[in-house]
Amino acid sequence: MFDHIECFYRPTTVRGALQLLRQVGKRGRIVAGATDIVTQADRSTRFLVDITHLGLNYVRRQGKGWAIGSTTTMAALEQSTVIRALAGGILAKAASTCGSIQNRNMATVGGNLANASPAADTAAVLLALDAQLVVASSRRKRKIALAEFYSGPHCTFLSGELLEEIIIPALPGGGRMGWSFQKLGRTETDISLVNVAAGVQADARGRIKWVRLALGAVGPTPLRARNAEELLVGNTLNEDVLARVGKVVMQEVNPISDGRASAEYRREMSGVLARRALRECAAQAGCKL
Ligand SMILES: Cc1cc2nc3c(=O)[nH]c(=O)nc-3n(C[C@H](O)[C@H](O)[C@H](O)COP(=O)(O)OP(=O)(O)OC[C@H]3O[C@@H](n4cnc5c(N)ncnc54)[C@H](O)[C@@H]3O)c2cc1C
Repeated sequence: MFDHIECFYRPTTVRGALQLLRQVGKRGRIVAGATDIVTQADRSTRFLVDITHLGLNYVRRQGKGWAIGSTTTMAALEQSTVIRALAGGILAKAASTCGSIQNRNMATVGGNLANASPAADTAAVLLALDAQLVVASSRRKRKIALAEFYSGPHCTFLSGELLEEIIIPALPGGGRMGWSFQKLGRTETDISLVNVAAGVQADARGRIKWVRLALGAVGPTPLRARNAEELLVGNTLNEDVLARVGKVVMQEVNPISDGRASAEYRREMSGVLARRALRECAAQAGCKL
C-alpha cells in the first residue's frame, strides 16, 4: 500500500499528532506497528501518521487500576512484570500468542484494538477486564468502554481519533479469583479460530459472585457472553453447570465460515473453550468441580 503515500509523518508529541490528523483528514491514517496496515492495501490512504514516537509505550499503576499506553508492543506486554502479575497473567498470555516474535516486537496493543478484527487476541481479555479506552482528537478527549468501541468487523466508533491509552479498572477485591485465556489456532502463531478470556470470583461456599466470559473470532466483534455470565452468577461450578454454560455460549456466538474454519466448528469450539477456561478459573479460585 505504501506506493500511494505522499507523506509519512512522525510527530513526537500527542498534540502534534492530533493536529496532523486533523490536517490530513480522511486521506490520512494512523500507523503504529504496521503489522495490520501493510496487509490491507488501502489505496485511499495518502498520508500516514506514525504514532510510535509519542511516548505512549508504557504500563503503569493508576490508582487501584492500570494504564497501558496504546503503542505498547505485544512483546513489552508479555515481558512486563506488572502485566504478568495482573489477572493471572491473561493479558501477557494473549499478547504472547499474537504471531511470531518478529510480529510481536512491532504489533501494538492499540493497533490490535483499533484494527477491530473480531479475532484480536487482546480484545477478548480486555473485555473480560472491563477495559476503558482514552481516545482523543484535536478538539476533545473522551473515555469509551471497550464493550462499546466496536461497530462491526474492522469498524469502531473512533472518528479520526487517536486511541491514547487503555485503562484497566481495579479488579474485584476479596480473593478467590481465577483467570484463563484460551486460544485455538491452526498453528501456534496463527490468528485465533476461537479465543476465550474468563475471570471468576467465588464466595466462601464456592458459589460464583462475579464472572466475565469474553470470546473472539466467533461474531462480528469480540463479545461478552452475557447470558452465560448470568447463568453462572449464584451457581456453584460443577459439571452440570459447565455443560449448560457451554450450550448457552454456543447459542450466543455468531461465527462465520472462512478459509480457516467452518461456522459449525467455531461454534462447537466456543463451548469447549469456554468450559475449559471456566475449569481453569475454578481451580485457581479453589472451587471443587
Ligand atoms: C504474521 C502476522 C500474525 C499475526 N497474528 C496475530 C495473532 O495471532 N493475534 C492477533 O490478535 N493479531 C495478529 N496479527 C495482527 C496484528 O499483528 C495485530 O492486530 C497488531 O496488534 C496490530 O497492531 P499494529 O501496531 O501493527 O497496528 P497497525 O497495523 O499500525 O494499525 C492497525 C490499524 O489500527 C489503526 N491504529 C493503530 N494504532 C492506533 C491508535 N493508537 N489509535 C487509533 N488507531 C490506531 C491503524 O490506523 C490501522 O487502521 C498478526 C499479524 C501478522 C502480520
